[in-house]
Amino acid sequence: MASTITPFQSQPVAKLASQINVPPGELAPGDEKGSGVKIPVFEAIKSGQFSKKQSQELNQMRTIVEQQGVGVLSQRDDKGHTPAHWACLGGHTSILRFIIENKGPIDEPSANDLGARPIHWACVNGHIAVVDILVQAGVSLDAADNKGCTPLIVACQYGQTMLAGYLMGKGARLQLTDKDGDNALHWAAFKGSYSELMRLLIYSGFNPRQKDNYLQTPLHLACINGNLTAVRELCEQDGVEIDLQDKNGKTPLMLAVGRKHDNIVAYLKKEAKFRNSILPRIDFWSIVFGPPGNTKGPLLFFVFATLFWGYPMYILKCLPLTYYEFQPLHIIFFVVNIFMWISLYHANTTDPGFLPRNIPEYDQAIRQVAHFDEWKQGNNPLARLCHTCRTIKPLRAKHCRFCNRCVQEFDHHCPYIYNCVGYHNSQMQICAQKSKLLLHIDKVRV
Ligand SMILES: [Zn+2]
Ligand SMILES: [Zn+2]
Repeated sequence: MASTITPFQSQPVAKLASQINVPPGELAPGDEKGSGVKIPVFEAIKSGQFSKKQSQELNQMRTIVEQQGVGVLSQRDDKGHTPAHWACLGGHTSILRFIIENKGPIDEPSANDLGARPIHWACVNGHIAVVDILVQAGVSLDAADNKGCTPLIVACQYGQTMLAGYLMGKGARLQLTDKDGDNALHWAAFKGSYSELMRLLIYSGFNPRQKDNYLQTPLHLACINGNLTAVRELCEQDGVEIDLQDKNGKTPLMLAVGRKHDNIVAYLKKEAKFRNSILPRIDFWSIVFGPPGNTKGPLLFFVFATLFWGYPMYILKCLPLTYYEFQPLHIIFFVVNIFMWISLYHANTTDPGFLPRNIPEYDQAIRQVAHFDEWKQGNNPLARLCHTCRTIKPLRAKHCRFCNRCVQEFDHHCPYIYNCVGYHNSQMQICAQKSKLLLHIDKVRV
């Protein structure tokens, strides 16, 4: 493969072209129409693909096994997959248990080039319960397909954060790589904008500076595929070099330029400038208008428009003409204004209910997650963890992507108060909004 590599087509691109463990066509429900021979046992499983009604398919399976014997569970479809593959892909826990009870194969690789096992297919769709059944039945957590991809790598290719957490909690080996030397973090950086997943991996011990067989780090791969979120995440990590050359002498910036990812090129150039600068990092634009993605624009617009247009117009044009005629309305206008500025100030400066970060309970939960039974009843304990804040979210708490913090009783992020609306400031935000509304009504009436 290396001999055919062009400067901008290094090994991960070849991976992208061939897709990965499950050919895309096979992911679609009802694809059995495309296959030649219809085998009843596969029809029974696939008919309920991605549905929750497993009892019907299970009954069908029982009937088929009673009629044709347990040998049908070892059958292969025309692409070389076993019934267990399809049960795992669709998350059919009851069918999988039925196969195990009847001693059907649950860990046979597909008879094709990739040789993926059922556990790999379960990881594609993040079925934790299915993976747990397989592991309890003795399937290896680190089983590799013919390309060397382990269940953890597959989970990361598809951005399955919770499953990745589960697998690591169960003891999946982190140092395993595929045949090109790429580990789960390389894949997460390459495949998508999975910041939560990447943070979880780095926190769990993955090295963001690790090089693969092509001397490419996760940053190189994120640049090849144009994942700005992943690039940002990696650049924020300690010791990640942005001008490291791969086997072909390409730096992450050169790869991004070659693939025309302009947003990444701009970001990396800015980052390089910052890193090379001996002056302290002062970004005046961010100081005035807030950091990118969390602009103070709407708030500043409101304040400036009110102070430099609204009030002058009111004082110069409206007041002289209507002061005696509508005196009570002017008094109301004045009082509501005072009230509005006070509530706006409070809503803007009050802590909306940010949850504490880096709490010890988070570390404890990560260590114990594999032993939790909760998710079997549908509640996943990992869903309550925030890997950015490293905290546990109580009910109704949510991570605000603008403030980059978890907020208790999160309502929404309001650009007009430039703050989150949560447990501590929801009343103030309502007051500010209502007084703004009253002012509008008042102005109209005057
Ligand atoms: Zn958070
Ligand atoms: Zn917010």
